[in-house]
Amino acid sequence: MLILMDADHKKEQLDRVVAKIEELGFKPHVLPGAQSTAVGITGNSRPLDPRIFEQLEGVKQAIPVTKPYKLAGRDFAGGDTRIPVGAAPAIGGETFVVMAGPCAVESEEQTVRIAKLVKARGAHFLRGGAFKPRTSPYAFQGLGEDGLKILKTAREETGLPVITEALDQPSLTLVYKYADIIQIGARNMQNFALLKEAGKLDKPVMLKRGLSATIDEWLMSAEYIMSEGNKAVMLCERGIRTFSSHTRNTLDLNAVPVVQKLSHLPVIVDPSHGTGLRDKVAPLARASAAVGAHGVMIEVHDRPHEALCDGPQAMSPDAFESLMGQLRRIAAALDFKL
Ligand code: PEP
Ligand code: MN
Repeated sequence: MLILMDADHKKEQLDRVVAKIEELGFKPHVLPGAQSTAVGITGNSRPLDPRIFEQLEGVKQAIPVTKPYKLAGRDFAGGDTRIPVGAAPAIGGETFVVMAGPCAVESEEQTVRIAKLVKARGAHFLRGGAFKPRTSPYAFQGLGEDGLKILKTAREETGLPVITEALDQPSLTLVYKYADIIQIGARNMQNFALLKEAGKLDKPVMLKRGLSATIDEWLMSAEYIMSEGNKAVMLCERGIRTFSSHTRNTLDLNAVPVVQKLSHLPVIVDPSHGTGLRDKVAPLARASAAVGAHGVMIEVHDRPHEALCDGPQAMSPDAFESLMGQLRRIAAALDFKL
């Protein structure tokens, strides 16, 4: 339910609406807008009778919200969400953001070297996994906390804020300590316990779309994070499973405008995992910019044959440099900075 207040409502009237929602055992979300103030309600498992609120003074109208993702959906929101991260351009703002780096943190030398390469070519954020969700238990699982310390060093050396994945509660606590953005990976999109814990933190979260998740399921997962209080959520389309086997996944670029219509959250696209093949990453990154995404996440490695994870999809620094030039031109055409 969304309660719209009269334009000239008094503060006591708004307080009364908030108190009424709390008396009923639900959560109020006061949403001040340019024209008028609204109050969203979450926590109700059944539809509420609008008359409960419409009889209160200062209330203009109570509108039932049919979408199950109230906080992630557009109905409750004043406008598009911008997520500031340190001195980097805000995500969801006027800049098309580029997150780049290796799939995995392999060593300090490797991570700092690649961080400098992507920084010199214009990346805004450094990516790199310290906790790797691998299909095989025998594959490289990441360096854990040592990997996070390396990311911290790379941030100090380059100034790039760091995004890295948390796999479970213990790694979430560590990632929170070291990283600037917490990544929740595709395989954990419906790990509701993890989503709730990330929702209690005060650092931005990037929620990747699950391997076979519908857009509604993805937005409900964002809702899990937001309903715990953390509103700094961005979404990442990274390809889904389809019958098509020519690429690792099928990058669902339809999802970008679909999600942007349903939600106010920024949408990033990951064409590296979306295609799994380095020669397909640049075309799909260009398409991501053209379709109106707020940014891309790209895996870059200068020695992909030595990479401990996802070498076949890693772009070379040269290819990344030429992609950045193309992205600059596409971003400019859509009035984004880059
Ligand atoms: C990653 O970005 O390192 C990753 C594992 O991606 P995904 O969760 O999309 O597979
Ligand atoms: Mn990877």
